[in-house]
Amino acid sequence: MHLCPNCVEPLRSRTMSNFTVDECPLCDGLWFDDQVPETMVCTVDKPQFFFEPIAFERKREVPEGELQCPRCKVKMAVYDVRGTPVDVCPECRGMWLDSHELRKILAD
Ligand SMILES: [Zn+2]
Ligand SMILES: [Zn+2]
Repeated sequence: MHLCPNCVEPLRSRTMSNFTVDECPLCDGLWFDDQVPETMVCTVDKPQFFFEPIAFERKREVPEGELQCPRCKVKMAVYDVRGTPVDVCPECRGMWLDSHELRKILAD
């Protein structure tokens, strides 16, 4: 089980049609293992839950680029995805997204 890099809260697995993401129950952040974003893009079903209303907002407490990978505990690098900063682990290629970041990316 992984912990949220923001809240240090246990992430819960959420299985979609053909992939699994780990979701933080507090901040609605999402952890994607390597290859999951690629799989997601190829999925026929729209990832509907990404657009569900957020239960409550919580401000990011860790500055961008200082999050630790929930798997490897190494510092994650910040990449620019369509103008949105995204935290990516240089070791396992996992990706951490705040829910609002994902909305911005999917909004295109
Ligand atoms: Zn969190
Ligand atoms: Zn990692």
